Amino acid sequence: MLFNKQLKDIKPYEGGKPIELVVREYGIDAENIVKLASNENPFGTSPKVIQAIKENAHSVYMYPDDSMTDLKNSLAKKFEINVENIIIGAGSDQVISFAINVKANRYKKVLTAKTTFAMYEIYAKQVGAKVVKTPSHQHRLEEFLNIYKKDKDSIGIIFLCLPNNPLGESLDKDEVFLFLKKIDKNTLVVIDGAYQDFAYAKDPKKRVDPKELIENFPNTLYLGTFSKSYGLGGMRVGYGIASKEITSALYKMRPPFNVTSLSLKAAVAALEDDEFVQKSIKNNFKQMKKFENFASENKINFIDSYTNFITFIFDKDRNSTEIAQLLLKKGIIIRDLQSYGLNGVRITIGTPEQNELFFKEFQSLL
Ligand SMILES: *Cc1c(COP(=O)(O)O)cnc(C)c1O
Repeated sequence: MLFNKQLKDIKPYEGGKPIELVVREYGIDAENIVKLASNENPFGTSPKVIQAIKENAHSVYMYPDDSMTDLKNSLAKKFEINVENIIIGAGSDQVISFAINVKANRYKKVLTAKTTFAMYEIYAKQVGAKVVKTPSHQHRLEEFLNIYKKDKDSIGIIFLCLPNNPLGESLDKDEVFLFLKKIDKNTLVVIDGAYQDFAYAKDPKKRVDPKELIENFPNTLYLGTFSKSYGLGGMRVGYGIASKEITSALYKMRPPFNVTSLSLKAAVAALEDDEFVQKSIKNNFKQMKKFENFASENKINFIDSYTNFITFIFDKDRNSTEIAQLLLKKGIIIRDLQSYGLNGVRITIGTPEQNELFFKEFQSLL
């Protein structure tokens, strides 16, 4: 069958391997599998979330509250913004697709860093938009600016992933704001803040506050998610924060009832347990040190990370695909980065026990 032409160069998204698949393919018991591949919270989610889901299970026969008022109110309070500045998506992924749909097409390109979140490119290609990438793997704003200046009229959206998945680096807010001053008001700049809470816990200079952002730059869209620090990856909830002009445009792309009722309840409950999130973030950076030490002791290069994962880059004498495959046979799932053109792996920081197991198995391979 002939499909739309733009499908030809779309490579479908490849998520971290699910535990179920490793059980099936390698016959390892589920309880012995350690998944450090999708940047989930290794401690699960808050008990308050689980209680909210249980308490609301009886209502699943009804469509969700499509105004999403409770969650919007909670987010508005958290960020000191208005409800009209918020759009909720089935994961912030869905908000990315709305953004692409309102600003990119055959004639309007998308500008990203060379190595960044894969979905920007996939959604761009779905609408037939061309993706322009900076020469460096990591975010270098002078490179973004050089490309932008030469091609201003044909660039519809710029994506800054702060911190960047899958590499872990993050830019300082001051640097980002200086950059934004040089961008035309008609170009949408998306600040993907999926890991912002990790970043500013490590270094306050990295904090991009959504309120300050949209007040200064009405052409920006801030993205947040409940999938990482809040431990709600399975519920699919994320949000976008922007000027009313932008959220109104994004709303035109939204399918009806795009977020489930239990997901909405879970997200509201998650926002009420900041202690859980802060504890998770604290563990994260304490454990991150162990990964850095492990890498140094074994002469492996790593990227200084502002997230809940760490990226190891190997020299030519090691092959990342092989390493990821050998670990998989031991029941440890990590993310190979060869599909990004990098001989490296991305490892989600786990619980102390999970990490010890990782170090032990990895050490035995080296
Ligand atoms: C995980 C992630 C998202 C979105 O996750 P959702 O589960 O769709 O909310 C967006 N951007 C980046 C960089 C991510 O790592």
